[in-house]
Amino acid sequence: MAGVILENVVKVFDKTEVIHRVNGVFEDGQFIVIVGPSGCGKSTVLRMIAGLEEVSEGTVMIGDRVVNEVEPKDREIAMVFQNYALYPHMTVFNNMAYGLKLQKLGKDEIKKRVDEAARLLQLSDFLKRKPRQLSGGQRQRVAMGRALVRKPAVFLFDEPLSNLDAKLRHQMRVELKKLHKRLGTTMIYVTHDQVEAMTLADRIVVMNDGNIEQIGTPDEIYHNPASKFVAGFIGSPP
Ligand code: ADP
Ligand code: MG
Repeated sequence: MAGVILENVVKVFDKTEVIHRVNGVFEDGQFIVIVGPSGCGKSTVLRMIAGLEEVSEGTVMIGDRVVNEVEPKDREIAMVFQNYALYPHMTVFNNMAYGLKLQKLGKDEIKKRVDEAARLLQLSDFLKRKPRQLSGGQRQRVAMGRALVRKPAVFLFDEPLSNLDAKLRHQMRVELKKLHKRLGTTMIYVTHDQVEAMTLADRIVVMNDGNIEQIGTPDEIYHNPASKFVAGFIGSPP
């Protein structure tokens, strides 16, 4: 397991600075939610942790290792995206197994890991189906399963539930919380939805316009907002 540390992290796209020297310590084993309005830089921060974007300045650490120069596949992370990105022609089993085959894990180990993830995510009866034969919620579970089988030290989620309807979203939040309790792995979860942040997080990271405005427990963020922005965004009294 591992925590994540951002030190003076800057991101510049085409001469425009979109992340302004942010600092954050995300503790090992916690459910961290990064929340803020659309365009404030949440995905960019997550992608820099994943290694899908380079940092322009500063340091990203996963555990006690500086990972600035480490490729995504060699970071101890797994990322779940909003648009599932499943392989349509592959079965659920093969969608989950694909990354492990690339890692050249043994057949028995792959089956063991997929079966275990499928049980946790209630997908055991669907392993032979293709993605188009699944509901939206089941597809999102397969995307989570693909991350789970890799046994990463840190899970990264970018708005994974925003394509689901309200009822399913609620149900998946409950399941995700259970999964976190069970695994105890660090999870960093990006959303623009304040309710989602308040219900899921051990620690909330509030972002605005390329800055981290505040990091705190849901209770601290709600009762002691560090700025007018935080108070307004989370909806607590000024
Ligand atoms: P959020 O996830 O909070 O909605 P993003 O991290 O996607 O925000 O974007 C933050 C800012 O960076 C936005 O102004 C966006 O237009 C810009 N941006 C994101 N990705 C790129 C890119 N690949 N090239 C140029 N600008 C980008
Ligand atoms: Mg985003």
